[in-house]
Amino acid sequence: MSRADRAESALRPPSIDRMSAWPALAPLRSRAGHKLLVETLRAWVEARRGTPDVADETACAAWCSERLAGLIEPSQRRAFNLTGTVLHTNLGRALMAEEAIEAAVAAMRSPTTLEYDLADGGRGERDDHIAPWLCRLTAAEAATAVNNNAGAVLLVLAALAAGKEVIVSRGELIEIGGAFRIPDIMARAGCRLVEVGTTNRTHLKDYAEAIGPETAAIMKVHPSNYAVQGFTKSVTAAELVPLARSKGLPVIEDLGSGTLVDLETWGLPHEPTAREAIEAGIDVVTFSGDKLLGGPQAGLIVGSKALIGRIAKNPLKRALRLDKVRLAALEATLRLYADPEKLVQRLPTIRMLARPPLEIRALAEKLLPLFAAAVGTSHQCGIQPVRGQIGSGALPVDLLPSFALCARGKGLDKLADKFRKQPIPVIGRIEDGALLFDLRTLDDETAFTAQLKNFAA
Ligand SMILES: *Cc1c(COP(=O)(O)O)cnc(C)c1O
Repeated sequence: MSRADRAESALRPPSIDRMSAWPALAPLRSRAGHKLLVETLRAWVEARRGTPDVADETACAAWCSERLAGLIEPSQRRAFNLTGTVLHTNLGRALMAEEAIEAAVAAMRSPTTLEYDLADGGRGERDDHIAPWLCRLTAAEAATAVNNNAGAVLLVLAALAAGKEVIVSRGELIEIGGAFRIPDIMARAGCRLVEVGTTNRTHLKDYAEAIGPETAAIMKVHPSNYAVQGFTKSVTAAELVPLARSKGLPVIEDLGSGTLVDLETWGLPHEPTAREAIEAGIDVVTFSGDKLLGGPQAGLIVGSKALIGRIAKNPLKRALRLDKVRLAALEATLRLYADPEKLVQRLPTIRMLARPPLEIRALAEKLLPLFAAAVGTSHQCGIQPVRGQIGSGALPVDLLPSFALCARGKGLDKLADKFRKQPIPVIGRIEDGALLFDLRTLDDETAFTAQLKNFAA
């Protein structure tokens, strides 16, 4: 062979068959399967043709591994939420209770009596699995549920007020994350929004003067993610209901997070409960399943029998309905509320919200040596008192006293990135020149510790 021939043959790739049998590719082959590996090897040959690299087993394995990562690794990954926000929308909000997880898994594995009446073998109603619980817990006459609270508001407005006017205070025309704006939802539902009052003050007479022949409902919206303070006035349900009744109009309320129990039981500030709204005479109340309630994503609708009947018959109800898996998880979650004393042990959302700061500090002290060893000498590590929040719009102004592991020094963004790139990504926050990991929401201490031990390596 001439020198030129030898040089050329070194640049020629081995056959795809031979390459796919390279020992360095064995782990990839077992994880991705033969088909994806061959596809990737073809891409490698295409990319490196005519270079000495093309026959390099190690370089090829590294390239294929990076390229296949997106297909092998799940896109939605488990993470540690140490942001200080308990119900973090971008990290998936409420964690489910074990009872809810088991119910969901069981429903995934088998056919269920989702819409089947065992008594007579006829058709059943999917709402029947959760409506009795919702009625019991809120004192409402009837209940239904849909995909989320945004869907619930859309459905309620479409069913009760399409083509007509709905009166809302200017102080309650909210926008929440993810482009949910009351005026836009109103338009999509086919209603005409009638704004009354001003941003900071709305009086009962503002509502009274706005009522006309085209009015279909009065709506209240819980201002979840902001608070208007100072010279303010809003009209309570107790004041509004008699006015609406005298005109034969329903009052609907979007509670946002809403809750089924009084959070003051655990030393937390008061958040309106669905029962309070019903007892104040609100005709239809909507709230989320995966905020303070601590269940799966859902939009819960409770209220009078007549109005819930109209809502459940609207075609949008079919478009927004819940599947058997979430209904199973929701039913199991609601069941836990029958025994409120055990909620704090069984429901992760309540457990995390009620976690005493001293317990969090003790955990921080226990973890600090491992954390400091993981971070290394590039930063100063310590424990810092911090304030977290409930998140998802609940109690916007009330901060939860907590403790965080903190790292100070240069290059905090880089350090935060390193934590995010861990096998189980660790998400914290940077505040006032420190990278903070609030431990209120650390549930799996074992997995966290194991990962910290491997961190430096
Ligand atoms: C969170 C929230 C919604 C939307 O609820 P989703 O369950 O996220 O759809 C609507 N209204 C208010 C007031 C909220 O706080």
